[in-house]
Amino acid sequence: MSSIINIKSKEELHISSLKRGEIHRLYIHLSDNSLGAPWKVPLVIIRGMEKGPTVGITAALHGNELNGISTIFKLIDDISPKKLKGTLVLVPISNVPGYLMNQRHFSDNVDLNRMMPGKLDGSTSDLYAHYFVTKIVSKFNYLLDLHTASHGRVNSLYIRADIENEETRTLAYLQNPQIIVKKFDESGTLRSWANDNGIPAITIEIGNPNAFQHALIDETLEGIHNTLKHLEMIKGEVQNLVTDATVCDESYWLYSKKGGIVDVLPKLADKVKSGELIAIVYDVFGQIKEEIKANKAGVVIGKNIRPNCDAGTRILHLGVSIFEPDTEDIPGHEDFDESL
Ligand SMILES: [Zn+2]
Repeated sequence: MSSIINIKSKEELHISSLKRGEIHRLYIHLSDNSLGAPWKVPLVIIRGMEKGPTVGITAALHGNELNGISTIFKLIDDISPKKLKGTLVLVPISNVPGYLMNQRHFSDNVDLNRMMPGKLDGSTSDLYAHYFVTKIVSKFNYLLDLHTASHGRVNSLYIRADIENEETRTLAYLQNPQIIVKKFDESGTLRSWANDNGIPAITIEIGNPNAFQHALIDETLEGIHNTLKHLEMIKGEVQNLVTDATVCDESYWLYSKKGGIVDVLPKLADKVKSGELIAIVYDVFGQIKEEIKANKAGVVIGKNIRPNCDAGTRILHLGVSIFEPDTEDIPGHEDFDESL
């Protein structure tokens, strides 16, 4: 067990002052809770022997989205600081209050990932966001932000990225995703703040909240290894670069109009046709009350798995406007399948 370094509220994190070729564990004091005690974010910094980029990986910015924590722990086991070029800054728990309360939101019930970059003279979450960005994320050259679906829904492994931008498109494909949603990001997300500030960033959506799903975690880990190889931070060839990711222009949820018992029919990553039946809402006597159909052709990114649903429940997350990427621009893959 290595000792923990405490970076106090008025102190700056100086990565360059940390010894090369070692793994450092730190607490970064961001702001204070109602006991007057500090909210301290845990950080693991793997400082390579040689110079290179600083890659930041953030997890649990939504406090109940936990697959990213295990991804980071496995990465720490995999990476030897003696063989690393550059620096990895790993944040296993970004939203500390949300994590403690096992909830998505921050302590003031606000979505922290709509508050970035926060401000000094703002709300509780504004302050935390401000220090999170200035003390930690501003030090990164690249950002991978690890998330999951919301409660009661399941997700495939998918990426949110601006694929018009060469650097973020490259990052997206290196993760070997099933699905890429290229929708430009809402303002206030960590990803949009990073991209606006010269830090190429993508969001990786790994399965479900409140769980460790090791098959998806291991797939995510392979994508991170690919990223580090591509950036020449670790040695090795990019692995299993899949070329059949379904790329969507945008994604949205289809809702139920009636309340009742809902059965959602397609599987994750299935392609559905326009007008295809995607869910049936039954009454409590087993009679059909509503048939929900896809309003466009698309791919199933996520789906509701809780059968008892009020009217107006999110039923199926549909990715639409499937688009053919420019295959020549995908890195490190010469024998690309033209039929993509
Ligand atoms: Zn999230």
